[in-house]
Amino acid sequence: MSIRPILIHPDPRLKTVADPVSDIDEAMQKLAEDMLETMYDAPGIGLAAPQIGILHRLIVMDCAKDEGAPPRPLAMFNPQIVWESDDRNIHEEGCLSIPETWAEVTRPAEVVVQWTDPAGDPHEDRLSGLWATCVQHEIDHLNGTLFIDYLKPLKRQLITRRMKKLKRERSRDTA
Ligand SMILES: [Zn+2]
Repeated sequence: MSIRPILIHPDPRLKTVADPVSDIDEAMQKLAEDMLETMYDAPGIGLAAPQIGILHRLIVMDCAKDEGAPPRPLAMFNPQIVWESDDRNIHEEGCLSIPETWAEVTRPAEVVVQWTDPAGDPHEDRLSGLWATCVQHEIDHLNGTLFIDYLKPLKRQLITRRMKKLKRERSRDTA
């Protein structure tokens, strides 16, 4: 397993619609493992393949973040929301591609998701709470949508300017 560098917004790859995964081969299984390792290392509770520059429909999550809770790694190929509740939930979201930035986003409180696991088996599950927020945030990444796209334009521009500055500073540090 290896830790992959995470892209920082703005980056055209974060605004691209990712392609479905037609064949879950060994390379794809390895990619899912790398993404989980990268997510835990960050640390984060979710990561989508476009965030490491890979434009395939694959996300990983682990929202079991209570202290002492056993890890619950989840890798979803081609995840799809097939039902969402009318009930809405407001959650303060962050993103590994938009470091040190949080904002409230309103989303359906519960969703039913279908996906294929790394072994190629199909799944369907009803997610709520943090898991529901996270899966919607990650699936958004597969469609080129970031959580700041839900914010007012002025706030979004402010965050984007800050991220550009951060990227400049980071590239200077490594130069
Ligand atoms: Zn994100």
